[in-house]
This record gives sequence, structure tokens and C-alpha cells, in this order.
Amino acid sequence: MRGTKFFGRGLLGAFCIAMLSMALVGCSLIREAQFVGMTGGGSGDTATSSSNIESGQETAVFADADPSEAKQEAGTAVHPSEQDGGKLLQPPSKPKNDTNEKKDTKSRPRVALTFDDGPDHKYTEQILDILKEYDVKATFFLVGTQVKKYPEIAKRIVDEGHALGNHSWSHADLTKLSAKDVAQQIDKTQQIIKQATGVSPRLMRAPYGALSKSVLETIHKADMKHVAWTVDTKDWAGTSVSDMYKNVMSNTRKDGIILMHSFGGRKDALDHTVKLLPKIIKDLQKDGYDLVTVDEMIDSGDYKTSAIK
Ligand SMILES: [Zn+2]
Repeated sequence: MRGTKFFGRGLLGAFCIAMLSMALVGCSLIREAQFVGMTGGGSGDTATSSSNIESGQETAVFADADPSEAKQEAGTAVHPSEQDGGKLLQPPSKPKNDTNEKKDTKSRPRVALTFDDGPDHKYTEQILDILKEYDVKATFFLVGTQVKKYPEIAKRIVDEGHALGNHSWSHADLTKLSAKDVAQQIDKTQQIIKQATGVSPRLMRAPYGALSKSVLETIHKADMKHVAWTVDTKDWAGTSVSDMYKNVMSNTRKDGIILMHSFGGRKDALDHTVKLLPKIIKDLQKDGYDLVTVDEMIDSGDYKTSAIK
């Protein structure tokens, strides 16, 4: 009997405690609502939000924390993470990765697209049109005799923000020339490029990539760096678009330098280069690469490729 009585009292006690608890919780919710209202909210806490839904005042306060409202207030239809860093002009195909966007963009791996043997009126212009469409900058290694024929195309390359390199006067194998003749091949080309574009390249690429110790010394004496490549598309030989695409996408690494041509090669071979270019621009960017000029790569001060000497 005593046990039953005690049990009955226990139940009553538990009921009272439960009622008291509910009353206390109710009070604390009201207090919390008042506190949030006074400080302007900002908390994304779900429980707090739901407790405020009935009050028009509180809902207004919570609008501050709503991302869609924040967009309107900023006056632009962009994600908040894109509001700095000059990202607004990037084409829609540019890969979006919010985590990376917040980091220093310098940490993104770089790749340089390079085009040899131009300028000319046919392929160089088509390549420039594609680069403009995708807002990508590349590096053109120009041959002196071609600059003499098409100075206005050389000028267009510079006007559209691309970098220039020297590719000798007559596309000679420099390893077969005297140091004096090598120097002349370099100087004469520097002069005509300067005359056509106002720019003095600080990059040199020996025709065929044929380099000797003596040729490299002559290049360094001209205060220039030699730039080879890490991926050879062999576009001049008429390599198919799909073979070149596979080669580029599977062999490109951080600080890669991709060799293509904007003039010369076998008949119609560079039609393939023109078809390849938009595909590799899109997919290298999708893989997270920044497409930069070789000058930009060097100016970064932390490039890691033995292709630049
Ligand atoms: Zn060449």
C-alpha cells in the first residue's frame, strides 16, 4: 500500500515538473525571439527561425540572412563568392568551384598555349578569333620573314593581349649557324617585331627546338629566355583532331606548354588545329587549369618546368 501511495505521489510530481518545464521553455522561446529581433538576427538556426515565422517583424529581420535577398542588395545577380577578384567577365564555360574561387587564384595550375611560325592571313586570324571568343591569352612565336609580310597581323596579336616570342628570321636550324649568325637571326627578328608591334619579345624559341649550348648562350646574351614545350601536338603533320585532343588532355600537367602552329605545315594540316583549339580550351579549363601566356608563367616566379631556360 505504501508503495502504491508513493507511486501516486510520484506521478503527480512528474506531471507538475512537466508542466513547469513547458512553461519555462515557452518563456525562453519568447525571450530568444525578442533577442533576435533586437540584434537584427543573422543566425541561420532553424529552430529560431521557425519560432519567428508567425511574427511579421521577425521575418523581416531574417531577410538579411537570406542569400537571395543579399544578391538583390548587392545589385548584381552573382554568387557572393564571385563578387571580388574581377571574375564577372569570365565566360559561362569557366569552371565554377566555390572552394577554389575563395583561394588565391595563383594557386590554380597554369598552362600556356603557344603557336609557332606565324603570322599569316589564314590560320593566325582564325586562331585569334577563337582566343577572343573564349577570352584566353596565348603566346605566338613569330618568324621574322612572316612579320615582314604580315605586320598588321603581328600588331593584332599584341593589340588583343597575347604575348610574343622570337622564332628566328628565316626558321633556320640555329645549331648549324655560327654564334654571330645566330645573334643576327635573333636581332633582325627583334627589330621587325618591334617595328610592327612596338613590343620587344623577351622569349625565344629555336626552330625545331634545336638547341645547343652555344645557341642557348647567344639567346641569354640577348637577355632572353628559351622556351621549349611539354606537349607537342604535331599539328603541322596533319595529326587528327582526336589524336591531338587525347595527347593534350592526357599529357598536360601543371606549368605545361603546348606546342601548336599558326602557319606552315602540310597542306590544310592546321585546319585541325583550328578545330582542336575550342575543345582543349574548354576542357583544360574544366580540368581546373588557368590558360596563361608564357610571360605570365615566368612572371609568377614559381613556375616549375624545365622547358623554360
Ligand atoms: Zn617553327
